[in-house]
Amino acid sequence: MKVLDGAAQGKELQLDADVVVVGSGASGAVVASLLAEARQDVLVLEEGSHVTPEAYGAMRPTTQMRTLWRDAGLTFAVPLGDTPVINVMMGKAVGGSSLLTGGVCFRIPDNVLNEWHDDHGLEEMTPAALEPAFESVEKTVKVQTVPTWMRSPSTRIFGEGLQKLTGHALKPLRRNMEGCQGHSRCNFGCPAGAKLSVDRTYLPRAVEKGARVYSHALVEKVLVEGDRAVGVRGRWLNGVDGGRTGKFTVRARRVVVAAGGYHSPLLLLRSGIGHSSGMVGRNLTLHPSFRVMARFAEPVHGWRGALQTAYSDAWNDERFQLNGMFTPVGVLAATMPGVGPRHAARAHDMAHLAVFGGLIHDEGGGHVRRGLGREPFVTYRLAEEDRHAMGRAMKLMGEAFLAAGAREIFLPILGMDGLTPDQFRALDLDRVPRSRVECASQHPLGTCRMGRAPGSSVVDPDGECWEVKELFLADGSVLPTSLGVNPQVAIMSLATRLGWKLRERPLRG
Ligand SMILES: Cc1cc2nc3c(=O)[nH]c(=O)nc-3n(C[C@H](O)[C@H](O)[C@H](O)COP(=O)(O)OP(=O)(O)OC[C@H]3O[C@@H](n4cnc5c(N)ncnc54)[C@H](O)[C@@H]3O)c2cc1C
Repeated sequence: MKVLDGAAQGKELQLDADVVVVGSGASGAVVASLLAEARQDVLVLEEGSHVTPEAYGAMRPTTQMRTLWRDAGLTFAVPLGDTPVINVMMGKAVGGSSLLTGGVCFRIPDNVLNEWHDDHGLEEMTPAALEPAFESVEKTVKVQTVPTWMRSPSTRIFGEGLQKLTGHALKPLRRNMEGCQGHSRCNFGCPAGAKLSVDRTYLPRAVEKGARVYSHALVEKVLVEGDRAVGVRGRWLNGVDGGRTGKFTVRARRVVVAAGGYHSPLLLLRSGIGHSSGMVGRNLTLHPSFRVMARFAEPVHGWRGALQTAYSDAWNDERFQLNGMFTPVGVLAATMPGVGPRHAARAHDMAHLAVFGGLIHDEGGGHVRRGLGREPFVTYRLAEEDRHAMGRAMKLMGEAFLAAGAREIFLPILGMDGLTPDQFRALDLDRVPRSRVECASQHPLGTCRMGRAPGSSVVDPDGECWEVKELFLADGSVLPTSLGVNPQVAIMSLATRLGWKLRERPLRG
């Protein structure tokens, strides 16, 4: 795939396009390919670098994080009240966060669509209306059910314990992959090229149909004349260290912003757009996620098999989902408690560890504001019911591991050592401050939400900004609520719906 390097462009460049797309991640790639296939002249601007799948698949996790992740994976949301510091991970590269996924694919759950339809007045948000978009995405990125034989011993053991404890069996996950060999490092780039991220699917299709994709192109402002978006302005960056080279201006008949849940609202705020609703940057949801680990007497070899293969939605009514996972052992070892010889003993025991993850279907407790430099200033307050769900999920996961015969439980609580079965059973998790929970997020959503009225939302039901005509938002920021499941298929399906609508809508001027 041919990508033009912004770092190699001149001091000042003027470009024209029918449609300019800001961001080349999961949503931007979908819209770009659909519009390029409809013979529109599409220009995609991406702040990050372009790295081929062969190159990132061969990188060590630490190199890959410094090359493809925003802030080398160290972005966080500032906690308010009894809330954990949440490490919010995002991609910054051609292909965006799509490169970093575990490949997990879920459609938007029916109960979430019902809420969007009934409570948010989004009439087209029904399973039947979205079916063609879901199907189109799943076909393009080859979503398939993960066979049971790919489950790692870690996932199998947890599943056995959960079933013994509660009667609920794990369900197989679906993933976008072809030829997965179970290297168990999807988040750091698949060494076998099996994960079908958008740099392997939608973006090459867009380029083949004439779309121009620039890397190292940071968009700083959406240009507006009267009540209409007419292009964007920004600067070329000098590779991953972000130094300055030159500037660009793009004149376009339509602007599509697909910069993700953190950076789309930031771009609007920096462009002076969206103040009338007061909603830009608000309602951030994160799906706070954490893992519980357990040590077994016999070796588990949890790294054998695929990274994510099974899940349980049996507790979705209680606001959490259990998702199977494993972490590359080098990374996992670094998270174990203890120092010196004690830590060495823990690292030596890696083969005996099993891991499972929990994800909270959270309320919109976050707020993205302009920061001092390039990045936004983001705060997040965990809602009371989410705080409770977090404790309930940890307790359940620990008990499931004990039912499977675990000798020691490691909770994601800062300063807490491994717990014997008796210590774990005696622990009252409701008394542990949530600010001590080791928590991460890969799903910032909802910061430019879609709705029926300008006062309570940023974009209309078709994704067009209420305040500025011909300015569309395509990414996870438009989701009216969190999903409770991993969002890439939801985001790509809504982007597909937008692309289909824009194909039919005449380009003006
Ligand atoms: C580690 C990790 C694991 C994940 N695993 C899964 C999973 O298994 N299943 C799942 O469903 N989801 C997963 N996700 C989430 C999924 O990847 C995202 O929800 C999805 O990619 C979001 O799409 P997007 O288009 O909104 O944003 P992104 O894909 O993040 O793309 C936004 C792009 O815009 C660029 N950009 C931002 N601002 C500007 C600007 N001003 N100018 C130019 N470019 C800009 C960014 O650099 C980025 O490349 C994971 C995410 C991460 C980080």
